Amino acid sequence: MNIAQNINTKAHTILIDGVRSAAAKGGDLEVLDPGTGEAFTQIAAGDAADIDRAVASARRAAGGAWGGTEATARGRLLCRLAAAIEAHRDELAEIESRDTGKPMRQARTDIDFCARYFEFYGTAADKLLGETLPFRTGFTVLTLREPYGVTGHIIPWNYPAQIMGRSVGASLAAGNACVVKPAEDASLSTLRVAELALEAGLPPGAFNVVTGLGAMAGAALSAHPGIDHISFTGSPQTGGAVQAAAARNNISVTMELGGKSPQIVFADADFDAALPAIIGGIIQNAGQTCSAGSRLLVERSAWDRLIPLVAAEFKKIVVGHGRDDPACGPLVNARQRARVLGMLEQGRRDGLAILAEGSISGDAPKGGFFVKPTLLGPVPDTHDLAQQEIFGPVLVAMPFDTEAEAIALANGTPYGLVAGVWTRDGGRQMRLARTLRCGQVYINNFGAGGGVELPFGGVGRSGFGREKGLEGLKSFTTLKTVAIRHG
Ligand code: NAD
Repeated sequence: MNIAQNINTKAHTILIDGVRSAAAKGGDLEVLDPGTGEAFTQIAAGDAADIDRAVASARRAAGGAWGGTEATARGRLLCRLAAAIEAHRDELAEIESRDTGKPMRQARTDIDFCARYFEFYGTAADKLLGETLPFRTGFTVLTLREPYGVTGHIIPWNYPAQIMGRSVGASLAAGNACVVKPAEDASLSTLRVAELALEAGLPPGAFNVVTGLGAMAGAALSAHPGIDHISFTGSPQTGGAVQAAAARNNISVTMELGGKSPQIVFADADFDAALPAIIGGIIQNAGQTCSAGSRLLVERSAWDRLIPLVAAEFKKIVVGHGRDDPACGPLVNARQRARVLGMLEQGRRDGLAILAEGSISGDAPKGGFFVKPTLLGPVPDTHDLAQQEIFGPVLVAMPFDTEAEAIALANGTPYGLVAGVWTRDGGRQMRLARTLRCGQVYINNFGAGGGVELPFGGVGRSGFGREKGLEGLKSFTTLKTVAIRHG
């Protein structure tokens, strides 16, 4: 049986305590192929009863088989899981592409990142250091980094395997047991990796997965009194609801929300280096990337040189089904497509100029959720298209005259996730690095190649707390101070 058939025929049950089962109340949700718009399988519609069971299982693992595993051994098991993910790269990439619509090339990269997160955090598991603190004579004081216990993980559909890897990998490495609620649009890679975790030797209960609707399984997880910390990645609206639920239990949360990130191009920039990063920054994953470079700020004196180059690249982009590995795939579902088309329609009604459009392949299935990549400009900075996250392959271009104006435009949205700066002027590079209000600044690059090692997160409406890198590992620990009076 080939992999695609396997995806279709397998019953995608939830995974609690190492055992696959149907949802307690029964019932399934259809899973659509975004490239055809047709259902190809189902996932179990888990709800509060399943979350209850998963939390109880995680609590047992945290207090026993997993929590009691020494850090070095824990790390080795996570590295074995990383190796298993690598060994199943083709299978997982096919699952991820089918589930999300993303081109196969991108899906393979995502699986590589997922493996790398488990490896990075696996090798860091026994390097979580505390400190000794200077204190009064007769005392020795030290700090211990300890796991929270049971962590909840609410994952979006845009990079399911990567985002699950970065939060679950870090949490498990710190010694927590996890309950994961993947997005209803894209749960399959998480279920498969959780199975591989069991095969790699993680004890049952360390890595539980409950699929289901956000309003049911997700809401039950965020409100559960048995959860000690929540990692949420998704929209600011849902993030607010998750925070409100977590607040009733007074637990900590990490919020990785959206963005409206600028790429700022000065006239002295290396356009040859900037151009592919400008295109990739918005076309990757059909623009459904929280850190997409969705606003192009161009120094006015360079506008007539740069914009035609960007427009020419947009016109070359062909959108198609993910399995055909196009430059750009479909959006994840009909709702997302309607939202993006609605925003483009609003731009047209308001007289915004479309500078270039890509095309949809003649081979693309008719029912797929495709949107033509679109470049608009100049877009007034107060317009919704310049202020709101579109989450589609839409780039809005805006001119600026001075460095101060570039900074004001870049910082002029409620978001603050990342920013790209393109200039050869070293002083300007440093000034912008310090004045841009966001979590990551890239100078003469965009995205730093994904940077598993680099702390990531936002300010403002983009959220708070950090994941990725060693900072992300600390996010899944709590600090205990031990004061020893020995005279
Ligand atoms: P979403 O907020 O609708 O869903 C995210 C997750 O939350 C899903 O698993 C969903 O089932 C769950 N959920 C929905 N309602 C819930 C509720 N009431 N209680 C608890 N959980 C609930 O977002 P989305 O549509 O899946 O993802 C797109 C958004 O996520 C975009 O705004 C994007 O910018 C953001 N995002 C941010 C990052 C980041 O790292 N900053 C990464 C990816 C996506």
